[in-house]
Amino acid sequence: MDGQGLRQRTAPAGGAMTSNAVVIGGGIGGLAAALALHRIGWHATVLERAPELREIGAGMSQAPNALRALDELGVGERARAVGVPTYATGNLRTPDGRYLQRAHPGDPAPLLGFHRADLHRVLLEAIPSGWIRPGAEVTAIRQDKESVTVRCGDDELSAGLVIAADGIRSTARRLLWPDAPPPRFLGRTAWLGISETPGMPGSMTLGPGGYFLIHPVARDRAYWAYVTSADRPGIRYDSEKGELLERVGDWHDPVPAMVEATAPERVIRIDIHDLDPLPTYVKGRVVLLGDAAHAMSPDRGQGAGQSLEDAVVLAAAIANEPTVDDALRCYDAERRPRTQATAMGARKDGARSTFKGAYRLMTPMLRLVPASLWRRGTSPDGNPTWRWQPPRLT
Ligand SMILES: Cc1cc2nc3c(=O)[nH]c(=O)nc-3n(C[C@H](O)[C@H](O)[C@H](O)COP(=O)(O)OP(=O)(O)OC[C@H]3O[C@@H](n4cnc5c(N)ncnc54)[C@H](O)[C@@H]3O)c2cc1C
Repeated sequence: MDGQGLRQRTAPAGGAMTSNAVVIGGGIGGLAAALALHRIGWHATVLERAPELREIGAGMSQAPNALRALDELGVGERARAVGVPTYATGNLRTPDGRYLQRAHPGDPAPLLGFHRADLHRVLLEAIPSGWIRPGAEVTAIRQDKESVTVRCGDDELSAGLVIAADGIRSTARRLLWPDAPPPRFLGRTAWLGISETPGMPGSMTLGPGGYFLIHPVARDRAYWAYVTSADRPGIRYDSEKGELLERVGDWHDPVPAMVEATAPERVIRIDIHDLDPLPTYVKGRVVLLGDAAHAMSPDRGQGAGQSLEDAVVLAAAIANEPTVDDALRCYDAERRPRTQATAMGARKDGARSTFKGAYRLMTPMLRLVPASLWRRGTSPDGNPTWRWQPPRLT
């Protein structure tokens, strides 16, 4: 994993070209893509610009659809071993601590909470050794009918297929989709962290203008996130932690305690962007996957999950279709409607839950939802997005 192989120009010849791919980006989407290709007998080289492969950030949840994709990638069991059941969608509270809705402790938890690094490691450990090249930033892409060549520094690498999983600010998208609009700021910002808070069941607290989410990510640790509106991106405070405590310091236990327990330098601040729908995810033999294709607002907890689905669907199409071009057409036709609908839904959900007047309007309505209906809607097959079934890879 030292990147030295890049000094040679690698251009698999003839027929080998069609079972050899370059993956740009070693995040959850890129690793899932490489693993999916491995499952169907392809070879992949993952180019990651960071000098070391690791997932930064705090926590996340994965829903049943994403867990099924992980099963198909052959790592479902390992993922479940590091994830923690979370009832965040079931336990809905107000800042004074009252429950608008409450999960039944005996019900199966629909989601698993993960430390991001743990889920990333599960994927990384399943990738064949030698496939990953850190410190390799792709700066140019050119292609003819048969192959694509990517440039990293002074070196070039060719393959029959390039999967661009290089995130919301994708270089591949900028180069090959020059007319695509840049990421859209959604008028929302988030503070995130991990605190040593044992035994959290997971919950979501709706407040005026923002919500505080808690997912357990280990027996003794929990992920927290506060999402609220912001007039513009880039607003920063001398003390992000102090600013957040100004906003949620008088909320119910353990909200302030979790923020207090997070070291100031570990409090992460992210302005929320997404992508407007692209007319296609495919240009020749280059295909966009994950956030590069459909970065979405985090409000449905689906961004990484959709990238796992992308990886499985792409590999299944490659395995089943007569040509790579046919497979890319199938992938595009199958993935764009689902991912773009999920992204637009998340955009709307986020706008609703951080709109200042929404709290006063929404809380009385949510209190009136019959508990049985809420329970059904937050059960593992209660949400239509969660019901997705993967194609088989093996
Ligand atoms: C606040 C927040 C909360 C979220 N919560 C959830 C959640 O609960 N559940 C969920 O499923 N999703 C969640 N998401 C979404 C999720 O984080 C993303 O959808 C997911 O991480 C995208 O993975 P990716 O691999 O497509 O992109 P990235 O993780 O961005 O990875 C892209 C990789 O490509 C590399 N790269 C970039 N450019 C180049 C280049 N030119 N050459 C080589 N390498 C390059 C980068 O270094 C990076 O490693 C959340 C997002 C946010 C912002």
